[in-house]
Amino acid sequence: MAETVKELTEKLVRCRSVTPSDAGAQDILENFLKNSLKAPVTEHLDWENTRNLFIHEDRPGKVFCFLGHTDVVPPGDIKLWKHEPFNVTEDGGRLYGRGVADMKGSDAAMACAMAEFRSLHPDAGVSLAYLVTSDEEGKGTYGIKKVIEEFRERQQRIDCCLVGEPSSSKLVGDTIKNGRRGSVTAEITFHGTAGHVAYPDKIHNPVHDLVKAAHLLTEAVWDRGNDFMPPTSMQIPNIKGGVGVNNMVPESASMEINWRYSSETSAAEIRKRTEEILASCSDRFEAEWDLSGEPFLSTDGLVLEAAKAAIKEIQGFDPLLSTGGGTSDGRFMAKICPDLIELGPTNGSIHKIDENIGKDELDVLERIYLRLLENLFAS
Ligand SMILES: [Zn+2]
Repeated sequence: MAETVKELTEKLVRCRSVTPSDAGAQDILENFLKNSLKAPVTEHLDWENTRNLFIHEDRPGKVFCFLGHTDVVPPGDIKLWKHEPFNVTEDGGRLYGRGVADMKGSDAAMACAMAEFRSLHPDAGVSLAYLVTSDEEGKGTYGIKKVIEEFRERQQRIDCCLVGEPSSSKLVGDTIKNGRRGSVTAEITFHGTAGHVAYPDKIHNPVHDLVKAAHLLTEAVWDRGNDFMPPTSMQIPNIKGGVGVNNMVPESASMEINWRYSSETSAAEIRKRTEEILASCSDRFEAEWDLSGEPFLSTDGLVLEAAKAAIKEIQGFDPLLSTGGGTSDGRFMAKICPDLIELGPTNGSIHKIDENIGKDELDVLERIYLRLLENLFAS
């Protein structure tokens, strides 16, 4: 008989899959899903040190994909854990273990919901798919980002996607992430003419140019956000300039700027406006840009509607829609499948010592996922 969601989670947590290692976790999921789906096709999209498992049915109708990751962040100092990190321990109504929340618990709940859906609705007209990577917590170069490049090339169809990342705050389903802000960073260097401060006509101080530009950039309004996303915000986390003495100006000064931007603007637009401001302050600057994630937003997708209804039926409340928090692999998938949300267990202890969730969360999550699939494909 197939494992329960708790048993499957236990098996996964026992794999010491500290990013980007998989340590056998994907084999466990593959075995489980091979026996649960209808004539599934299994693909191992592995590159370098990263394993990616894509297992899917090949049927007429839409393709619904669950997206997850089998890697976890390191446990940190094991002596500080109340219970062994690579094991699931129940204590005081909670389940402890590295990855129970982020996100082996939801990997298991997604797999179990798919299996249950297929046994209850063997003829439902949908292809169920499951995609997991072993590098979400690390650099992710060969993870979902690369898989999506591959999917784009071969025009892999995915119509609907649910990412099981821990989105909830106090109770399972109280928060759905229906988008994420984008993130872009610029490293800006101003050049001047170094020299003695007593001879202002012979020097050009790049620190002054930098301060002027920093002021204009912090005053700029990038957009006003929208109903789902706050306005774009920028921060200057680092400034470097000066040689440490009070009688000399440096040749160069630099600052690093990061924007968290809404879907009302784009990295290209931010870059254009920033470089105009920089050019108004100096004619000798360089700007190096690093785009780490584009924003995405789903406001009226089918998955979002089905999830809201499933949460209402099972938990009895309406979820909050949020675009807060950092980036996730959802940003890559959203490029080929805009009908996408993130919905998973509570996230209060993720990446911490004694990572834990409520002991009923896995069952509730599995039921929500199952109901969501039924709302979409079995009515
Ligand atoms: Zn995660």
